[in-house]
Formats: sequence, structure tokens, C-alpha cells
Amino acid sequence: MDPKNNSALKTGMDELHKRLSEKSVQIVFITHVNPDGDAIGSTLGLSRILSKAGHSCSIIVPNDFPEFLKWLPGATDIISLPGHETNVAKLIESSDVLFFVDFNDIRRMKEIREPVSRSAAYRVLIDHHPDPVVKADTKISDTSASSTAELVYRFILESGLKRHLDKDIAVCLFAGIMTDTGCFSYNSSSPETFKAVAELLQHDINKDQIYYRIYDNFSCDRMRLLGYCLNERLEYFPEYRTALILISQSDQKKYNCRTGDSEEFVNYPLSIKGVRFSAFFIEKEDHVKVSFRSKGDFPVNIFSAGHFNGGGHRNASGGETYDSLEAALEKFRALLPKYREQLNDYED
Ligand code: 5GP
Ligand code: MN
Repeated sequence: MDPKNNSALKTGMDELHKRLSEKSVQIVFITHVNPDGDAIGSTLGLSRILSKAGHSCSIIVPNDFPEFLKWLPGATDIISLPGHETNVAKLIESSDVLFFVDFNDIRRMKEIREPVSRSAAYRVLIDHHPDPVVKADTKISDTSASSTAELVYRFILESGLKRHLDKDIAVCLFAGIMTDTGCFSYNSSSPETFKAVAELLQHDINKDQIYYRIYDNFSCDRMRLLGYCLNERLEYFPEYRTALILISQSDQKKYNCRTGDSEEFVNYPLSIKGVRFSAFFIEKEDHVKVSFRSKGDFPVNIFSAGHFNGGGHRNASGGETYDSLEAALEKFRALLPKYREQLNDYED
């Protein structure tokens, strides 16, 4: 990450430490829609360490998360909102502290926003996305961190919780850092990240096993879907150093697509020599979800916020549109000439 775009904010730490050390409290951890490895790993790590410190902890997510994260220690206790609305509302209502993990905008909580808006609980934000607009009593926001999991690790040290760190927590935090850095291929040039990883490895975790449980855990259908997409659904725009991949509803039906199957597809076009901007469009039932990735300075978070109701990081962002898939693609193709210069102003 470009240091000039970094910002770090830490407020309300003393008050949080006071609340967590005085007595046992009920904590609910909430993360963003379409939770990824960092969201799940961070909430699981936080939840386990604060449970060990004597608190009563629950994790709520707005929708289901990928199978390849469900083996993580504690993942089976995560409550996914659909079908559990009453229980979720009760948990939030009776919570003393709410932790908002790995997102910078409350809209990312989707329907969980409603019970949250009625809660008077103490609010904590822990996140590494730029420009957070989440109201919280304690804010831990640092865009220089590789991942929220890295921030959770630092929080553990600063809060005197290190004695509770165990193998399961280390597995969850390592998984978060590994997935949010594309296995240390981006966003991970800081020695701090590797220091955190080195500490986590002290807890006897099997790094190689974590890797293959996440990345080598797909169905054969998913492999064939990937092959199909690379063959038939990839559009390459060399003059804009851009490529996109799309998946329609019928493609998903044909290949038996499940949550998480298309995760990482957006990264493939970046392997084409010269490509520095990649887009991925997936047709959902009532909207189109888009993902953007870039190499170098091209700010896909700004692109996404400007054109696809989204946001994220400079090199990894997402958004959504209620246009049809074809209209969304047409809009994207039509935007490229506007960015021609910016996209070509790049040293390989
Ligand atoms: P992904 O493409 O993997 O869904 O998301 C990449 C990054 O962009 C993540 O950091 C994620 O938090 C962010 N992101 C994805 N979708 C949205 C969105 O709709 N709104 C905002 N603000 N951020 C998003
Ligand atoms: Mn993250």
C-alpha cells in the first residue's frame, strides 16, 4: 500500500480497556456481507480471545460464507442472519459491546443494521479500509495494516491479552492475514505484518495445511466453472490494460455454483502480462455484484464508489448494481476510454 495514502486512527482505547477489564460483558461481533477470510478469521480470533478473557461472545454475519472457511476453529458457531432474525435481534438487544469488524461503512452490515440501530451498546470499530464512516465509541482504523486480522493481533498485544493467545486463535488470524494479502503477494510489504506472522507461527500452527484447506478445497464443478470462465467469459482490452470476467445466473446453475466458488476469479486477469485493472461481474438473483482489482496506483475503490455504489481498498474493491448484467458490462466497457491515460501510466 502506498504510504502516502495511509491513515491510522485510534480513539477510545482506555474506555474500551476499562469496559473489558471491569466485569464480564456480552459482546456481539459483526462483520460485512459476503464475509471473506479476513472477516471470518478476525472475528473468530477476537471472539475466542475475549471469551477466554471471561466475556460472553457471539458472531453474526449478514449472509452465508464460503465452505472453505467453515473448518476454521469456532466457525460452526457463527450465526448467519437469514433464518435467525429473532435470535440475532435478541443477541444484539442484550449485548453490552458491539464490535464492527473489517468494514468501514455500516451499509456493509446489510439487514443487521436494523437491530444495531436500536441498540445502546458500546461500539467498537476495528478495520483497515480507508475513510471509515462508521460511528463508534472506540475506533481502531489503520489502512497500513495488511488485514483486520493483523490489527486484531496488535490489539491482543496492546490489551494485555497475549497470555490467552492459543493455536486456534493463531490459525484464525493467520488465515485472515494470508487471505487478505493474496498469500503475501500484495499489501504485505511491511515488516510489521511478517513480525505478526512470525509470532503466530510460534503457536505451532501448520501454515501449509491452512493454505491447502483454503485454496485446495474446491469442488470439481468449481474448477470446470473457472475453466469455462477463462475460456468463454473473459474479455481483454489490451489498449486499456484491462480484462474482465463475467458469470451469468445460467452459468452458475450449469456449474452448480455455491457460495465462495467464484472467490479469487477476479485475480486471474491480472496474471495476463500488462494487465493492471481487472473486473469481475457476477449476476445474482436481483442485482449484479462486481469486484475490481488493480496493480499499482489505479484506485479501484474510487472507481467503484464513483460508478458501482461500492468501495474498498485502492487495489481491491467491490460494489453492486441493480442494472442487468449486460447493462452493467456495457457501462463498464464505456467507462474505459475515460481512464485510458491513467491505466497506461504505469511502470511494469
Ligand atoms: P470483494 O471484491 O472481494 O467482494 O471485495 C474487495 C474489497 O472491496 C473488500 O475489501 C470489501 O470489503 C470491499 N467491498 C466489496 N464490495 C463492496 C461494496 O459493495 N461496498 C464497499 N464499500 N466495499 C466493498
Ligand atoms: Mn480485510
